[in-house]
Amino acid sequence: MTNSTNNKSLYIHIPFCEHLCPYCDFTKLFYFEKFSKPYLEALFKEIDSYHLIKMDTIYIGGGTPTSLSDIEFESLLKKVSNLLNRGGEFTCEANVENLTSQKLSLMARYGVNRLSIGIQSTHDERLSQIGRFHTFEKARDVIKNARDVGFKNINVDLMYGFPGQTLDEVKDDVNNILSLKTEHISIYSLIVSPGTLFFNKNIKEQNQDDSRLFYDTILQMMREAGYERYEISNFSKPGYESRHNLVYWHNQEYYGVGLGASGYVNGVRYKNTSNFEKYLAGDCVSEREKVDQKLLREYFLLTHLRLKEGFSLSEYKELFNKDFLQKYQTKIDEYAKNNFVKISDGNFAFTDDGLMVMDRLILSFF
Ligand code: SF4
Repeated sequence: MTNSTNNKSLYIHIPFCEHLCPYCDFTKLFYFEKFSKPYLEALFKEIDSYHLIKMDTIYIGGGTPTSLSDIEFESLLKKVSNLLNRGGEFTCEANVENLTSQKLSLMARYGVNRLSIGIQSTHDERLSQIGRFHTFEKARDVIKNARDVGFKNINVDLMYGFPGQTLDEVKDDVNNILSLKTEHISIYSLIVSPGTLFFNKNIKEQNQDDSRLFYDTILQMMREAGYERYEISNFSKPGYESRHNLVYWHNQEYYGVGLGASGYVNGVRYKNTSNFEKYLAGDCVSEREKVDQKLLREYFLLTHLRLKEGFSLSEYKELFNKDFLQKYQTKIDEYAKNNFVKISDGNFAFTDDGLMVMDRLILSFF
């Protein structure tokens, strides 16, 4: 397969973690050197198979990329940094407990210019309840070390909606996270997915009323602190939106490599196998879906409508040869009455209220 000219983004999945969190449903496995070594070999082969050059964005995610040994981590960065275009965005995810000064120096040396750190909570008891081994103080130290090494674009992840969590705890979390002064903050509610330990323990997601109260409070605090919510779960200072993730939300194509990774190349969405043995044997892609006009329209809505800006009505017309407002006029009028949608500057988007019930609203346009 060759590098298609309009595809300038690469996602790389490192599935290893030093511990497995009870709520996590990502593709991941315990870190052991006997697994990581052959994994990187297979990964590098898969990367080579795409003949990539000049990527505008590269994102190493997981799993926990920083669970690799320093030597493995360096070999990965060395391999990948050559693929980045000048001025490109190069993100690497990290966990607090293994983001050592050595790892930070390696990232800086090989051109990583955006860090994404999973903090999740600023309360140490809560952190141990959700299977995290760091403390908030350690998280503060790590951010300081990253600044010292020269990182100017840092994201941190925060979660809310834990069992028994109070509004005061959430406010405290947001204030603590804001005190870190990072350029970007991702905030997710706890989802209890089948197959996770939380699911097996019958832990319930937060009820809708509390969830709404927490969500509104978070939004208000973030906005007062000067962050814009540009995507349903993502906030940034102006100019620090994640360029890589915007590729997904603009429904553009990207390469995805690694165990369980997804990609979108030459009009085909694909999913890599989550079977470690198969992946090592080079049998990478397990599912392929040719994106026809119907699917293209569905993905277009599913991705763009997560964004504050929504989508351009003229772009919709150009792509699908239909006038969106005309086609869905009755529904749109009803949603507008409920303050779920807004139309401005030729764009159609959901309001804060609309984003809360986004899934239901989008489905009604299918
Ligand atoms: S949440 Fe992150 S660190 Fe925890 S198991 Fe999942 S991928 Fe690993």
